[in-house]
Amino acid sequence: MIPKDSLPKTDSAWKEILSPEEYRVLREKGTERPHTGEYDQHWDSGTYVCKACGAELFTSTTKFDAHCGWPSFYESIDKSKVREVLDKSHGILRTEVVCANCGGHLGHVFNDGPDPTGLRYCINSVSLGFRKKD
Ligand code: FE
Repeated sequence: MIPKDSLPKTDSAWKEILSPEEYRVLREKGTERPHTGEYDQHWDSGTYVCKACGAELFTSTTKFDAHCGWPSFYESIDKSKVREVLDKSHGILRTEVVCANCGGHLGHVFNDGPDPTGLRYCINSVSLGFRKKD
């Protein structure tokens, strides 16, 4: 993981380490097209990390199929890893989730998830990397 004090400090520095699509989603709060992401239908056991900084964010044990076209989790690995931000864009009130370490946009969290939390973290595949469990 890139520690907070070593993170890129400018947009151009981020562009050097992210692909154009990763930059658009992670740094410009874009959204990947539904049902196109690498991890939408991906059920291997392991840990999902922030694509920008490598912070561990979600585990495969909390992933479920929400049929919404994006990888969905009912819980983050740790509350301190994912920060919630009020999002008033597009005239609707939503809760954006960002990587607590680098501030990268991940997706949104909704209150229509399954037990045990009732939450649905709807996350862009492009914001994530995956480390397979050995
Ligand atoms: Fe990050």
